[in-house]
Amino acid sequence: MPANRALFIDRDGTINVDCPYCWKIEDLRIYDDAVDIIRKYSSDGYIVVVITNQSGIGRGYFTKEDMERFNAEISRQMAARGARIDAFYYCPHTPSEKCECRKPGTEMIERSAEEFDIDLSKSLVIGDRDDIDGEMARKLGMQYRIINRK
Ligand SMILES: [Mg+2]
Ligand SMILES: [Zn+2]
Repeated sequence: MPANRALFIDRDGTINVDCPYCWKIEDLRIYDDAVDIIRKYSSDGYIVVVITNQSGIGRGYFTKEDMERFNAEISRQMAARGARIDAFYYCPHTPSEKCECRKPGTEMIERSAEEFDIDLSKSLVIGDRDDIDGEMARKLGMQYRIINRK
């Protein structure tokens, strides 16, 4: 039996204000309630994994390194406020590439569950899009909570 519980959380529109195609550090604005959520779950022993579609890479709007810098800054600001992020999983593809990882596809969760020995039945998904994050959670029969930013 997998040993760990996890919070799978969306990035753009859930953790940070969606730009869209955010990659510049100066555009990073983290929602206070996202800090509270991640602090709570990480301190309760959950593994915290960010699951994010980043088709801006496939579209040539920014590079993988740009995204990694942006993600590292999210982690740094979270950590400074007592909220730990364990990993980022991203899909760099455009919809026309028809990959398995782009949400609402489930491959990013499945890969991270294997890497971190996560029991999906004891884990949850939080996101701002029912048709993307919610749909991914439903495909896996997982708990899901929507954060409405409208
Ligand atoms: Mg989102
Ligand atoms: Zn993909």
